[in-house]
Amino acid sequence: MKVKCLIIGSGPAGYTAAIYASRANLAPVLIEGPQLGGQLTTTTEVENFPGYPDGVDPFTMMDDMRRQAERFGTQFVSGIVTKVEFANSQSQGQCHKVWVEDTDLYEADAVIIATGASARYLGIESERTYRGRGVSACATCDGFFYRKKTVAVVGGGDTACEEANYLAGLCEKVYMIVRKPYLRASEIMQQRVLNNPKIEVLFEHNTLQLTGEGKVQGADLVYRKGEPDEAIRHIDIDGFFLAIGHHPNTDLFKDYIARDAEGYIIVKDNSTQCYQASNANAKANGLFAAGDCADPHYRQAIVAAGSGAKAAIEADKYIKSL
Ligand code: NDP
Repeated sequence: MKVKCLIIGSGPAGYTAAIYASRANLAPVLIEGPQLGGQLTTTTEVENFPGYPDGVDPFTMMDDMRRQAERFGTQFVSGIVTKVEFANSQSQGQCHKVWVEDTDLYEADAVIIATGASARYLGIESERTYRGRGVSACATCDGFFYRKKTVAVVGGGDTACEEANYLAGLCEKVYMIVRKPYLRASEIMQQRVLNNPKIEVLFEHNTLQLTGEGKVQGADLVYRKGEPDEAIRHIDIDGFFLAIGHHPNTDLFKDYIARDAEGYIIVKDNSTQCYQASNANAKANGLFAAGDCADPHYRQAIVAAGSGAKAAIEADKYIKSL
């Protein structure tokens, strides 16, 4: 199938790109990917997206965006992109090729990559059991539900410190569970954490399991595992926040598009334009990135939506120039 504009990803960035691209008469096709609605649907309620004064459940919000894109003619394909072959030059009418489930080939003049990022989890079983019931990977999204309660944040980087500080503004007490004897975060972030009386940093602790009746009520930790003074400790908590990093979903594009050391797609100068993997100064024609896959900093739905709009406007301009 040959299309003008192909969008990969069904989070706020992908759907917003679809709304703008379809209103620009690009007749976009959107490949929905493995998690319909994107990362946002792992949270319980969205209260910080403008336009929903009473909050909204993430499935409703993402369905609203999808229906809005559909109304203007976006075509949706359920499936996962398994392979791409992006053209280096489109001067001889070459197209970008994208395969869904290895079999269905789409050829596109422009591709908007909005594949998001996935929060890293520890991999313990109880994390899955309590996901959405006390386990979260976004303090900005879910912290409000833990006002005046006790929570734990796992991780010792800048994100963990930022989230612990944010949560300390809402919660009664915040534990930080840090596997090393020191924090990895920048000095200023460390000082904010260490000087905050509501935050207790548990250095050299790892989480064994979460406990609770239907929701998180506690965590079993191990102190200095394997050392002579190894000890098990239980803490009572109402919320367990992961802040051990994110992984942008960009591995599929690594041969074609410039990424930073963490795998985030490099965009420059307030644009969504991608650059070539082999030469990060050369534009990758017709390739645009929006949302968390190109954003190591903000990771907010509203920011992703904004960049989706930008990507569609830039794709439209590019297609018209062909
Ligand atoms: P980082 O990779 O910097 O930190 C991850 C933290 O999680 C580390 O403390 C790491 O421990 C810990 N961790 C990783 N895996 C596990 C595990 N399995 N069990 C327990 N702990 C684990 O990620 P961040 O998201 O914090 O930051 C990403 C980038 O974004 C960084 O460059 C950061 O500086 C930047 N950033 C900047 C901000 C700012 O300037 N305001 C705010 C937020 C992020 P260990 O140290 O032992 O590896």
